[in-house]
Amino acid sequence: MGPGLVNITFLAAGMLFILSLGGLARQESARRGNIFGIVGMVLALAAATLSEKFDNHLLLFAMMAPAAALGLVVAARVKMEAMPQLVAILHSFVGLAAVLVGISGFIATTHFHEVEGAIHLIEIYAGVFIGAITLTGSIIAFAKLQGLIGGKPLLLPARHFINLALVLASIGLGVYFVQAQHDGGLVPLLIMTGIALILGAHSVMAIGGADMPVVVSMLNSYSGWAAAAAGFMLSNDLLIITGALVGSSGAILSYIMCRGMNRSFVSVIMGGFGTGDGGAAPAAGAAVVAGEAKTIDVSDVVNFLNEAKRIVIVPGYGMAVAKAQHPLSEVERILSGKGKKVRFAIHPVAGRLPGHMNVLLAEAKVSYEKVLEMEEINEDFPETDVVLVIGANDIVNPSAEDDPSSPIAGMPVLQVWKATTVIVMKRSMGAGYAGIDNPLFYKPNTRMWLGDAKKNIDALLAKFQG
Ligand code: NDP
Repeated sequence: MGPGLVNITFLAAGMLFILSLGGLARQESARRGNIFGIVGMVLALAAATLSEKFDNHLLLFAMMAPAAALGLVVAARVKMEAMPQLVAILHSFVGLAAVLVGISGFIATTHFHEVEGAIHLIEIYAGVFIGAITLTGSIIAFAKLQGLIGGKPLLLPARHFINLALVLASIGLGVYFVQAQHDGGLVPLLIMTGIALILGAHSVMAIGGADMPVVVSMLNSYSGWAAAAAGFMLSNDLLIITGALVGSSGAILSYIMCRGMNRSFVSVIMGGFGTGDGGAAPAAGAAVVAGEAKTIDVSDVVNFLNEAKRIVIVPGYGMAVAKAQHPLSEVERILSGKGKKVRFAIHPVAGRLPGHMNVLLAEAKVSYEKVLEMEEINEDFPETDVVLVIGANDIVNPSAEDDPSSPIAGMPVLQVWKATTVIVMKRSMGAGYAGIDNPLFYKPNTRMWLGDAKKNIDALLAKFQG
């Protein structure tokens, strides 16, 4: 394939990636967005591998085939709740690629012209720096999410100074690297790589397990910038476009997640929040909740639902864990068939990934128009007869609004307590991800339906069908 055709194919792939991101922004068009992305990636791979720049296509395909097969198997097997760690480990590969491309690009380049040469060296240096941080940061994020290492933040006494010293040392080495050019430039480049690897690992170690999804999204952004830097090094326009798309979309996603949790981006990357143990003990600062919770069983739930006209279902992380979306979707169809108005309310950080609940409900064939975002439905709770909270906790916690001492104070939440009756499905009275108690469970209009969400919904379905 000649360079002209390669460039045109790259341009087409770049446009498909932009269309893909546009499609992924809405549930109705997400499938189409995915198809655009797949076609774009196939085109990009075909143009890159068939380019006449390579003379050993056989070797290239021999390397790619097992990797592609491995990717297929891993992607097909991964459980929805293990998606963040898969994404994290994939980012580490992007980081590793940027480091290898940078270092080998430096070794392979022999001619450095004045200004152009200095710019090229800065591209190499920046690409390797970001790539190395992404590599070890992503490996630590993966290990934390996978439970291979504890989720607790590692808070060394002078950790901010250590990070600052590492960054300053990298900048100093960078100046030396650009001046040294090819004579002796490799040594500062390699030392900086070591420093950046330590910096990536250390900064993610300082962040607690609860903030890991934001970190993964942030590393996604870094991996994009590392890819863009590699694109500059290789003079590859497609890599520059794709890297910039990934870099900016990752940054926007991190911002949305932080806003949904009422955290600042800086407070997340500075670290120290979240125990990462899934919230067994109430976090410091939360008011202790006292009172008695009223428990109910499946027959009571049938009665409540039969009498209700307007029902809102609030899914959370527990629905994903229990895999209760399929029978839940059946229950929704039965209730809608009885003439009731049934809708789903989705909090922006419900579950463990943005869009987590939307994906599961779409998989269970819940129709899109019944799935509403928090701002679209929050005002409707006072006119709702029954809210069915299924495996959600933090996102329906009223202390975010009422208790300024709560660690989640100020986080926007679904105001389910304003409905006539709230039925909360979970296995125990335990805390959610933020590790804080939930006063909702003790409100006079709340009923706790304890047990595994899937088993309970199956029992409910059996009652309706029987
Ligand atoms: P939570 O983690 O607050 O609560 C989930 C609840 O599900 C738990 O209290 C648990 O209670 C229950 N549960 C677990 N397994 C089951 C089961 N098999 N059957 C029934 N219930 C079960 O989840 P939410 O979705 O309410 O909130 C999301 C949290 O994650 C927020 O704190 C958010 O900030 C955080 N987060 C979300 C991100 C995102 O992008 N979505 C990113 C980063 C963080 P029990 O053990 O008693 O059953």
